[in-house]
Amino acid sequence: MTAVMRAADRRQVAVIGAGIIGLACAWRLSRSGHAVTVLDPAAGSGATHAAAGMIAPASEAVFGQDALLSTSLASARLWPDFAAELARDVGRPVELAPRGTLLVALDADDEASLARHARHLERRRCHVERLTSRAARRLEPALSPRVTGAVRLEETAVDPRAVSAALEDAFVARGGTLLPVLAEPVVRDGRVAGARPVGDGWATVDAVVDADVVVVATGWSSPRVLAALGHPVPIRPLKGQVIRLAAAPDTLTHTVRATVRGREVYTVPRPGGEIVVGATSEDVGEDVSVTAGAVHDLLHDAIEVVPELAEATFREATARLRPATTDNLPLVGPTCVEGLVLASGHGRDGVLLAPLTAEAVTAHVDGRPPPRCVEPLAAQRLCPSKERS
Ligand SMILES: Cc1cc2nc3c(=O)[nH]c(=O)nc-3n(C[C@H](O)[C@H](O)[C@H](O)COP(=O)(O)OP(=O)(O)OC[C@H]3O[C@@H](n4cnc5c(N)ncnc54)[C@H](O)[C@@H]3O)c2cc1C
Repeated sequence: MTAVMRAADRRQVAVIGAGIIGLACAWRLSRSGHAVTVLDPAAGSGATHAAAGMIAPASEAVFGQDALLSTSLASARLWPDFAAELARDVGRPVELAPRGTLLVALDADDEASLARHARHLERRRCHVERLTSRAARRLEPALSPRVTGAVRLEETAVDPRAVSAALEDAFVARGGTLLPVLAEPVVRDGRVAGARPVGDGWATVDAVVDADVVVVATGWSSPRVLAALGHPVPIRPLKGQVIRLAAAPDTLTHTVRATVRGREVYTVPRPGGEIVVGATSEDVGEDVSVTAGAVHDLLHDAIEVVPELAEATFREATARLRPATTDNLPLVGPTCVEGLVLASGHGRDGVLLAPLTAEAVTAHVDGRPPPRCVEPLAAQRLCPSKERS
């Protein structure tokens, strides 16, 4: 719902960073009636550009990380309305596809680990469908005959490039301003005063974008953006390489995930025949080179699971940096600096968590209580306890 806001409640907000997180926050804040400026020299070009776009809370569930699973399930539930509202605002469809994930086993060890994963999900009330190899291949005839069993999950995906373009267009159509500059927050007298463009030609006090609230959504660069404030942020870059293939449109109707030679691989089909194959996870600093070994392994593993992909056309190989935190939970909400809000550290799940992050940030700026399930993500967990509010 678009709020009709009293002028006194309207805040000036600067959002630094226009990946899927910054753009989702900016669009939601504009819809809520705030005056929003986004600053980014290359909107949509960070991790968002590489992401497969899986909205996959159950596939991604990890033992011992129930807080992340609850927030991920909550955000996945928000996606259909988020996409529908975005589509209405932007005047073009925002597709949620495919419908369903198949986790497939290639041997007895995989079957045992799938069974453990399925029990873990069922204990948390997730719907899980166990399939024989024959049933799995009835659903996906392109699966390798080596598949020995599968689990089907009700999950979907979006195309993050299309979503971030739609968010940017919808944001601008609502009167939002996008400035193509690098920026950093400005703090005066212990509270945020705005955002200052940095770099050639912009580093003047006059160029400060005044703001009551600054949202830092700069992905893996967030520690650098906040360094001048003496605000340490435990986020590090985690490299991911991914490839895109063009296949016949009906090659796959589900996201398929498997483990081949100890490496996880997924194939995400998009409407129209594109198949995204991912992804590596490499703790190698700020390197974004595409390596022959990664492309080889991704192709090998995908073809092992879906042999028909050997016929697909190779489109692209991409490497980007995920913003990873030490506890695997994003950092969302107010910080110990008044007016400074963090929306970063979404690791492998930034697309999945975009609607919930945008809702939490917008609720904070509106002065409403944020959804309870985002409590574990609170950025104030970084503050010394006496500074939390
Ligand atoms: C290979 C791969 C596959 C993935 N697959 C999935 C998936 O299937 N599902 C899922 O949910 N997630 C997935 N992810 C994770 C997801 O991509 C990230 O969590 C998400 O994109 C983070 O979004 P973000 O907006 O925080 O960061 P980014 O998309 O990295 O955006 C940060 C933005 O900040 C800008 N910026 C940086 N510094 C400054 C500055 N000083 N001033 C202004 N702007 C600045 C950059 O230009 C960039 O546009 C994947 C990631 C990778 C790498």
